[in-house]
Amino acid sequence: AQLDTLDIVVLAALLLGTVAYFTKGTYWAVAKDPYAGSLANGAAAKAGKTRDIIEKMDESAKNCVIFYGSQTGTAEDYASRLAKEGSSRFGLKTMTADLEEYDFENLDSFPEDKVAMFVLATYGEGEPTDNAVEFYEFISSEDVSFNQGGGISEKPLANLKYVAFGLGNNTYEHYNSMVRNVTKFLDRLGANRIGAAGEGDDGAGTMEEDFLAWKEPMWKDLADSMGLQEREAVYEPVLEVSEKPEMDAESDDVYLGEPNKNHLEGKQKGPFNAHNPYIAPIVESKELFTVKDRNCLHMEIDISGSNLSYTTGDHIAVWPTNAGKEVDRFMDILGLDEKRHMVISVKGLDATAKIPFPSPTTYDAVVRYHMEICAPISRQFVSALAPFSPNDSIKAEMTKMGSDKDYFHEQVAARNYNLAQLLEFLSQGQKWNKVPFTIFIEGLHKIQPRYYSISSSSLVQKNKISITAVVESVETPGASHVLKGVTTNYLLALKQKQHGDPSPDPHGLNYAITGPRNKYDGIHVPVHVRHSNFKLPSDPSKPIIMVGPGTGVAPFRGFVQERAKQARDGEAIGKTMLFFGCRKKAEDFIYADEWEAYKNDMGDSFEMLTAFSRDGAQKVYVQHLLKQRAAEIDRLLQQKAYFYVCGDAANMAREVNTALSQIISEQRGIPESKAEDIVKAMRNSNAYQEDVW
Ligand code: FAD
Repeated sequence: AQLDTLDIVVLAALLLGTVAYFTKGTYWAVAKDPYAGSLANGAAAKAGKTRDIIEKMDESAKNCVIFYGSQTGTAEDYASRLAKEGSSRFGLKTMTADLEEYDFENLDSFPEDKVAMFVLATYGEGEPTDNAVEFYEFISSEDVSFNQGGGISEKPLANLKYVAFGLGNNTYEHYNSMVRNVTKFLDRLGANRIGAAGEGDDGAGTMEEDFLAWKEPMWKDLADSMGLQEREAVYEPVLEVSEKPEMDAESDDVYLGEPNKNHLEGKQKGPFNAHNPYIAPIVESKELFTVKDRNCLHMEIDISGSNLSYTTGDHIAVWPTNAGKEVDRFMDILGLDEKRHMVISVKGLDATAKIPFPSPTTYDAVVRYHMEICAPISRQFVSALAPFSPNDSIKAEMTKMGSDKDYFHEQVAARNYNLAQLLEFLSQGQKWNKVPFTIFIEGLHKIQPRYYSISSSSLVQKNKISITAVVESVETPGASHVLKGVTTNYLLALKQKQHGDPSPDPHGLNYAITGPRNKYDGIHVPVHVRHSNFKLPSDPSKPIIMVGPGTGVAPFRGFVQERAKQARDGEAIGKTMLFFGCRKKAEDFIYADEWEAYKNDMGDSFEMLTAFSRDGAQKVYVQHLLKQRAAEIDRLLQQKAYFYVCGDAANMAREVNTALSQIISEQRGIPESKAEDIVKAMRNSNAYQEDVW
């Protein structure tokens, strides 16, 4: 009998599955790359087949690999910066490497004359980033075994020279635990650490300066250890941009902002994930605040037919585009305005170079859709740009800013400048047309999707995801402008358009809301779903206590919606306490009428406690409300209540943590240190969960 099409598809899928299984992901790594198959990446894709780092370094003649464990791109960015600097200052032959693309059983034969660097972010509650999970499991294992067979006691990694930097956040309990643990394990295996392991602190807002302060002595130690000579650093591009005036930007194979190949060819194709967003319709949007000068958006995003799914407590990621106003500014100051729609092709100058977006594309598409052009500027990047200044006095100023931390802070950081704003300010409009475009592709962050705690219940609306987002608009004294958050102002513009508002963009930011080739028209936004561990107990009769001021209430709207439905369905609902706070009841008490309705469904099982910090003479916050209900909270905890905190990581989450320890201490008559241990134990057993940012 003849095979019909379906059979062939099934057979092909089985075959692929088998190949994939036996090749242990070798080919997946390539296929998973969203840009694989684009013209520019051909060489890299071919060279990317091995999972053997030593072989890879040999074939590409490298003597320094910088591994990164990165979740949001910062660690990856730091890795690239180390690679560039190692090459330009010390003549090292560097490459960066995604930890998940290599195996580590052969680290025991890592050549003595080479060096491995590890740039490791700590994620969530002290966990490795997704791409570092396998590496971490391997290296932390008590019976880790390498190809040559040496056990822990035999110091199998005695030949491995390594350097380490960690990215962490001191507001979390397991501060920088990734780099701390990995260095501990590597040292236990006899590896030879060069210099001190660095630690960057996002919580204190000093990540960049911590990195800069760590790397200078590290380079010195490394140079001593490897006998490297420092030379005057010159910019050495790892990418090459070629302009293609003969190509038409409208032609079908030019990327105009499409995230990858799946979006270039007609209809978008799944599976949709962190590498491939779904262009989702926004079916409903509204303003939640009643004041004019601040905005909080509620949006309903339809995922039906996309094969995306979520459960209550998950996150949705929104892929933003830059505001047209900032894209124009960037183009203008760099003298790129006239050729912004010129087709360009981007190539790696060596097989290990990674191109962060698909090619061929245009200047406009790269700046609008792929580069984080509005973010705070890195001081090191200012130094890198200095040689390309329009004249010598600007060059001197740039060099000073780049080398003097305090001066940089005063002149740049305190004014909230983004890159183009700084360049504009320094040159008074004179064009910066000597800067190679590759320096931006290599030196600026890839634009990052922003996460939102889903504010609906999947039990109530399986195919519709709610978002609750406060629009970022920051006025800092001393800053020359109002800082506008990239994503939330993009969402605001979409909402305005959906409502046919005559000024679709209240701040003239001028977003390209219909997307590349108008593919987002009809109010669409690119998204993917990230599953989280922030979950309701599976048994609805268990008591829960939720603390979520401001937009921190987002996931709890989902939680309460879910329990209200369960109550309507006749299930027994445990005590459901929600602590909420905002400025004024009449202004920013979001979803006020909905809470009433949930109360009708759940009766006395649901209780909402509110703190309005600016309504009364005294400022009241959620921590105060918790204290007022200390006895009941403690009683619920004794009944194994789950305790949840969502929202501001820097202050609120920490204060709530402290308040809870104090409550336990007072109520149970035990020392506070004991109570702190109880809270820690709750965290470890998932009875205390945080969703903070
Ligand atoms: P961005 O452009 O990213 O700017 C954010 C901030 O960075 C600015 O306010 C400013 O402080 C700083 N900044 C940016 N540019 C500069 C500059 N040039 N100079 C100095 N400082 C600068 N938010 C919600 O509203 N609701 C939620 O439910 C929610 N859930 C989240 C869940 C998780 C797990 C995480 C990680 C975050 C969550 N957030 C939530 C926050 C959200 O992801 C975004 O960070 C937020 O909406 C701001 O995004 P934006 O693109 O508008 O602002």
